[in-house]
Amino acid sequence: MAYQQNGDGFQRKMYQGNWKCSKCSKDITELPFDPDPARLDQLQCRDCHRERRTFSRGSRY
Ligand SMILES: [Zn+2]
Repeated sequence: MAYQQNGDGFQRKMYQGNWKCSKCSKDITELPFDPDPARLDQLQCRDCHRERRTFSRGSRY
């Protein structure tokens, strides 16, 4: 296991890869989580992800 720890504070780990957003077909080169191989065709880029969250919260209006 290669685990690196930086002395100065918290650094978010990003996973590098070569994926595609299922919604807008944009290239995804890094993700804040390790993508599930079984769900690679459901991956969404950061923009689409955020949009989805905003939508569900906005329904209260
Ligand atoms: Zn997208």
